[in-house]
This record gives sequence, structure tokens and C-alpha cells, in this order.
Amino acid sequence: MNIAEHAEPTTKRVTLTFDNGPVPGVTERVLEILEQARIRSTFFVIGRNLDNPAAARLMRRAHAAGHWIGNHTLSHTVALGDRTGRDYALSEIEGAQARIGSCAHAEKLFRPYGNSGHLGPHLLSRAALDHLLAQNYRTITWNNVPGDWKDPDGWVDRCIAQVSTEPWSVVVLHDIEGGCLARLGELLRRLADRGVTFEQDFPGAVTLTRGGQIVSLPQGYVAD
Ligand SMILES: [Zn+2]
Repeated sequence: MNIAEHAEPTTKRVTLTFDNGPVPGVTERVLEILEQARIRSTFFVIGRNLDNPAAARLMRRAHAAGHWIGNHTLSHTVALGDRTGRDYALSEIEGAQARIGSCAHAEKLFRPYGNSGHLGPHLLSRAALDHLLAQNYRTITWNNVPGDWKDPDGWVDRCIAQVSTEPWSVVVLHDIEGGCLARLGELLRRLADRGVTFEQDFPGAVTLTRGGQIVSLPQGYVAD
């Protein structure tokens, strides 16, 4: 018998991320489900949301529970590559970072606004990229966007199918009204049944910048 043929299949790794919150009424329930499953994740928060004290409290609660807090822009309205001025980049990045304050991850996690999960030149402007490098942000994208906010029936199946195609999936979910909450428990059970390993960290393949260096920046992610 050939032992290699019977080697265990490589375990899939899955990192969960929750974008566009915190949203009172939703984020606390997401936190409860993650706690029950003993999974730590990253919440990429919108800076403007934190002007609501209840949302800011939820961010602090997530941080205290061991989740990482990342910056998902101040306004989440116009992508950085679609408004390329330096002032806009600074206000979108630093306006959110200031509101995150002491809950920020030591590596200053930042996720650009993708406009429905798209990857392309709208993600970053040259000014934004220069700033993220100069200020040592760790810029994180994704490779699994199942569409929880637009397809409540199909997103769990799509997420699991995509997980089976990637050695390390970075999944974008949303802790917003009409987002992942209703089926998050089901997703976690089905992934656990498949023996995936839940991670909190991110692979280099979705890391655009880290510690002042470009890690993996595909051509065409920066508008000039
Ligand atoms: Zn978003």
C-alpha cells in the first residue's frame, strides 16, 4: 500500500471577517455566536458608525473578547481609487483610525472599501497607498465574498464551495441588518463538520501592505 495515497487531505484554513459594523442589535449577537464557537475574528468597522456610542461600546466589547479591530474607512461611500486626492485618502483612513483609538490592532489593520466585494483599481489611490505604507498599515483584502447581504438563501452554500477551492480562505461577512447573522451559526457548524481550521490571522496572498512594505499587491489595485 502506498502510504502517500492515504495521507490525510490538507486541512483548509478559514479566517472570518465581519465588515461594515458595528451595528447595535446585530453585532452583539454575532459576538455571542462566535464566543459559543470559540472563534476569534476581525471586525473591520466603519469609522462613522462609531459616532454612535452604542456602536463604539460594541467595538470595545469585541476587542475585549479577543477579536481584532480593523479600519474599514471613515465613510464607506466612495472608494479610495474613485476619488484620488490625498486629502480624501487621509480623511478616510485617519478619520476611522482616530475613532477606533486604543482598540486598534498593533499592526493597524486596514481594509479598503470594495464596493460589493469587487477587487480592482477602485480599491486604492496612489495617495492612499503611499499613506498606508508610510504609516505602517497592514492592508487586507479577501478571497471569499459569499454575498450574505444580497443572497440570504445562497450565501452559505457559496461560501463553503469557495472554501473547498482555497488553502486559506479569508471570508467577508457583514454584521449589519440583513447580513450574515441569521445563518452564521449554520455556516460555522458546516465548516466545523468539514474539519476546517479557524484562523484569526491573514495569509500573505490577501495582504497588500505590512510594516511599510508591499507584500502582495496585484497590478490594477491602484488608480493613478
Ligand atoms: Zn464594506
